[in-house]
Amino acid sequence: MSDPNCVFCKIIAGDIPSAAIYRDEHLLAFLDIGPLAEGHILLVPLGHHEGLSDMPADIAAIVCSHIPKFGRAVLEATGAPAFNLLCNTGREAGQEVMHVHFHLIPRAAGDGLGYRWNAGTYEEGRIQEWQQKFERILAG
Ligand code: AMP
Repeated sequence: MSDPNCVFCKIIAGDIPSAAIYRDEHLLAFLDIGPLAEGHILLVPLGHHEGLSDMPADIAAIVCSHIPKFGRAVLEATGAPAFNLLCNTGREAGQEVMHVHFHLIPRAAGDGLGYRWNAGTYEEGRIQEWQQKFERILAG
């Protein structure tokens, strides 16, 4: 499954060049052209699925099974002590390329990257309402 208007499908097809570092029958990995830090890579399933929640579970499982190996490679290649795994899903979450992909971003102390993690709190009873809502949804 491929989308002719998708930049990652074009990279996968070889119509646009990329700095590829790994390819198999399920997945392509290449360096992000606009890195948040040098050595920032992308893991991209070959099939065109828009977001993580659209991916078939078996493909997601295969792609995710590679994450530890690529995480180790990022640490070794960059010398960074840490990395972030990021999958923006939906435009409001920052997804610009609508072909699911995982960012592996090397991190170092004081690098200035990161979220504004403005953690809130729940009012009395509210977390249980959310718990029940999720349980209903996941029970199908
Ligand atoms: P996202 O905002 O999660 O959709 O991230 C898309 C990422 O794809 C960005 O970090 C871009 O820098 C990267 N990107 C877009 N086009 C290319 C390209 N031709 N080669 C490599 N990376 C790309």
